[in-house]
Amino acid sequence: MPGSREMSTNALSFRNVSAGYRNRPVLRGVGFEIGEGEFVSVIGPNGSGKSTMLKTATGLIRPDEGRVELFGRDVASLKPRERASLIGVVPQKLDSPMAFTVSEIVMFGLGSTGRPWGMHGSKELDSVERAMIYTNVLDLKDRMFNELSAGEQQRAALAMALVQEPRIIMLDESIAHLDINHSQEVLRILMNINRERRITVLLVSHDLNLAAQIADRLLLMENGRLVMNGSPGEVMQEELLSSVYGCELRVRRDPFGGHPVVTGALDTALRRPALRKRLHVIGGGGSGIELFRRLSIEGFEVSAGVLNQLDSDAEAARALDIPCALEQPFSAIGNEAFEEARLMVSEADGVVVSAVPFGSGNVVNLELAADALRAGKPVWMASGIAARDYTVDKAATLAAERLRNDGAVEWSGIHELMTRLERDIKNRQ
Ligand code: ADP
Ligand code: MG
Repeated sequence: MPGSREMSTNALSFRNVSAGYRNRPVLRGVGFEIGEGEFVSVIGPNGSGKSTMLKTATGLIRPDEGRVELFGRDVASLKPRERASLIGVVPQKLDSPMAFTVSEIVMFGLGSTGRPWGMHGSKELDSVERAMIYTNVLDLKDRMFNELSAGEQQRAALAMALVQEPRIIMLDESIAHLDINHSQEVLRILMNINRERRITVLLVSHDLNLAAQIADRLLLMENGRLVMNGSPGEVMQEELLSSVYGCELRVRRDPFGGHPVVTGALDTALRRPALRKRLHVIGGGGSGIELFRRLSIEGFEVSAGVLNQLDSDAEAARALDIPCALEQPFSAIGNEAFEEARLMVSEADGVVVSAVPFGSGNVVNLELAADALRAGKPVWMASGIAARDYTVDKAATLAAERLRNDGAVEWSGIHELMTRLERDIKNRQ
């Protein structure tokens, strides 16, 4: 809601925000408020819009609708310097293109004070040192950033974000995660920052249990919408989470802390035993994310492609360690990638075609399904291809018709697909 009610007490507010990328709306009608000093964690499945929310909060993406306020001021109206002094951002992964030492990297955090390199005063150098002490990287100050472990790198990135003494820290936790000790250490540092220095924290987390353990409040995202905003106890509900994550989850109380703990399919270690059945998924544009997760959970080995690099399916596949035939970003599928995918199909027990839109660039992927049928392997194809066919000559629709004639089975929801897989392949030896 627009209006000036209690603006000054909020560190961050989203007022009915819709935002996304060119031609790709992601966030839809998102509204919430974060009070100064709160520790809030954003959770939700891959592709649900967590990172997009963070980019919108930092002003990197402008809302198409609605308004984002930082400490009562419209983010869009803040000058870069003001923004940098209010927000400390810890990116998903900090890539250092050149060889810099840790203290140099941390000093980059001073960037917006407008001084040229090497001209920092002693007050600034003090704050660099303080940030490094706080994040426990002072011992590493002369080491090369690129040569540090992931956990050390994240601590250095945190120090860089802290140098400006921001009023809110925003972090996007990497998917390629840290091992448990490292993430615990980073979280401990964040808790100290939050409790001792009253810096507001907004943490995007893929780890429900850590989020529930540490945050005052959780924001649960699904498909670009904020579906739940509440205390860990309110958000960590079996039914809600199982539905949002598309798999069966259990919630119980931690015997020591009393906080809710999720167990179940999210954890790789708890996946069903391997079936030694391999499925190749033809997807793209986010249509495969749910499938990858679900099939892996069900114990299938999964391969995917051809996908374009940077496609959200390609990223999801990478996060789940799913082998993937990849083409350059935004390029039509070429021979090499196609042959790689063909090899994957030849090693698979069947092919699943997701509800991916087809254009001239990727319609060739349907030939992979035809290959599979010729080899006597089952193909499960998402129905309604005609509505997703953007080829000029309706090539995808025609190819789908041929696939149907040759025995491809159609499915229209993930539940239906799972039932069919169960029947057609899982129990077949
Ligand atoms: P999450 O962080 O929850 O995994 P994201 O916010 O990264 O989700 O992505 C939400 C949706 O926006 C996904 O469908 C993703 O493919 C899409 N998306 C992310 N970044 C871009 C981008 N730079 N351009 C276009 N679409 C994007
Ligand atoms: Mg993300």
